[in-house]
Amino acid sequence: MRRSLVVGNWKMNGTLASAELLAKGIIAGLASSDADIAVCVPYIYLPSVSKIVKDTALALGSQNVADKSSGAYTGEISATMLKEFNCQYALVGHSERRSYYGDTNESVAARFCQAQEQNITPVLCVGETLEQREQDQTFQVINEQLDAVIDLAGIAAFKTAVIAYEPVWAIGTGKTASDEQAQEVHHYIRQYIAAKDQSIADKIQILYGGSAKPDNAKGLFAMPDIDGGLIGGASLDAESFLKIFQSI
Ligand code: PEP
Repeated sequence: MRRSLVVGNWKMNGTLASAELLAKGIIAGLASSDADIAVCVPYIYLPSVSKIVKDTALALGSQNVADKSSGAYTGEISATMLKEFNCQYALVGHSERRSYYGDTNESVAARFCQAQEQNITPVLCVGETLEQREQDQTFQVINEQLDAVIDLAGIAAFKTAVIAYEPVWAIGTGKTASDEQAQEVHHYIRQYIAAKDQSIADKIQILYGGSAKPDNAKGLFAMPDIDGGLIGGASLDAESFLKIFQSI
C-alpha cells in the first residue's frame, strides 16, 4: 500500500507575513492522517516557514534546486543550502521552470541528483503541452522526461523520489484532466517504471497536478495510480488546501 502525499506549490506569491499565516493556518487545521503533506515555499521564506513547521506534520519543500553543488552560479540555491532549512522535498522540472527559465531534461536530471545527494526527495514534474497532446505525443514526451533522469541517476534513484504528472494545459488554467485522462497517464508512467523495476513502480508515489481543487480532488485521488496531488492555486488558501488533503 502506497502512502499518499499532497504537496502545495506556492509559486511566487504572497509576502513574508502571508506565508507565515498560511503555514500556521494549515498546521492548525491538520488532523492526524495516514497521508503526508508538504508545502513548497519561495526560497526567501524557507528560514521563517522552517521554524513554523518544525515538529509538526507539515513538511517543507523548495520549488527548485541548483543543478550544481556549489560555486560561481549567481542566483542559484544549492541542495546543501536547502538542507540547512530542513527541506524534505524539492520540485524539479516544474513546467513553469521548463518553459520560462529554460530548464531542460538534462538540467532537471542534474537537479534531481543534487537533491538526492542531500537526502532531499525530488518531486520530478513531467507532462505534455496541449499541442503535444493533440499531436498524440503525450507518452513520447513523458518517456523523454523520465529517460533523462533514469539515464543520469539510474532507475534505483526512483526508490527515493516522487513523480508528479502535470499536464501543462491543466496548470493554472482551471481545466483539470478528467479522472480517466489522469489515470491513463499515471498508469502509463507506472508501467514505464515497472518495465525497468517492478518493485520501485509498485512503491513510487505519482501525484497529479493541474487545477486540482476541493471539488475535483476526491475523484482524482480515487484513481488506482494517483497517490495524491501537487497543488498550485488552491494551496494558497489553508481551507482549500486542507480540504484537498482531506479528500485523500
Ligand atoms: C502547479 O503549479 O504545480 C499546479 C498544479 O498549479 P495549479 O494547481 O494552480 O494548476
